[in-house]
Amino acid sequence: MRMRLNIAIDGPVGAGKSSVSDETARRLGILHLDTGAMYRALGLTALRKHVDVQDEHAITDLCRNLGVSVSHEADGQHTFVQGEDVTGLIRTPEVSMAASTVSRYAEVRKEMVRIQQKLAAETDMLVDGRDICTTVLPNATAKIYLTASAEERARRRWLEMQEKGEKDTFEEVLSELKKRDEQDMNRAVEPLRKAEDAVLVDSTHLSFEETVQEILRIVEEKRHG
Ligand code: C5P
Repeated sequence: MRMRLNIAIDGPVGAGKSSVSDETARRLGILHLDTGAMYRALGLTALRKHVDVQDEHAITDLCRNLGVSVSHEADGQHTFVQGEDVTGLIRTPEVSMAASTVSRYAEVRKEMVRIQQKLAAETDMLVDGRDICTTVLPNATAKIYLTASAEERARRRWLEMQEKGEKDTFEEVLSELKKRDEQDMNRAVEPLRKAEDAVLVDSTHLSFEETVQEILRIVEEKRHG
């Protein structure tokens, strides 16, 4: 029997994980699970229900009853809370920070990891996040740590936001990005770090296409030796 194809990609804010992962998965003909969207769904729900994101106990309770699920459609992943499609609501800076804060809690991570492992066991999948190589899929076929300099990551995020007509300055985007990196890399439970056996891909000087090609090359190498 052929081995399940699981590809794990971790990296900091704005490394291009989402778009690169989407395209890489598409070319491989497999699904892409964006795990950040699940933490964002919890962050959004906390904000909507006015649950204090600093209150670990309350957030853990909320997470247990969240009913988060995902589906894969022609236009990519949709994320649901109790059956409501929240895909269009989870990309704001407020939800980003809330997601980063609620993702610090051990019980929250345990629950999210459990759901993600179940999904990845069911089908060939590329999974991106912060703890995929280290915790969710330590035995993935290929493990990649995708990064770029903070300035380059902020520049890409800022250009993206400008296209959407958002008014944030480059300095604001850079400062928010550094704050979230700092929180993700310094939390007690499963902080973002490169797994020892993950392959480092630094996209600072790579185009989108070059980054996808590099990841496909690594996947082929790991698959066929
Ligand atoms: O990847 P994205 O920016 O959408 O993730 C939002 C937040 O969710 C991150 O800042 C991080 O704190 C958290 N996260 C995580 N583990 C993952 C994916 C995301 O802690 N596997």
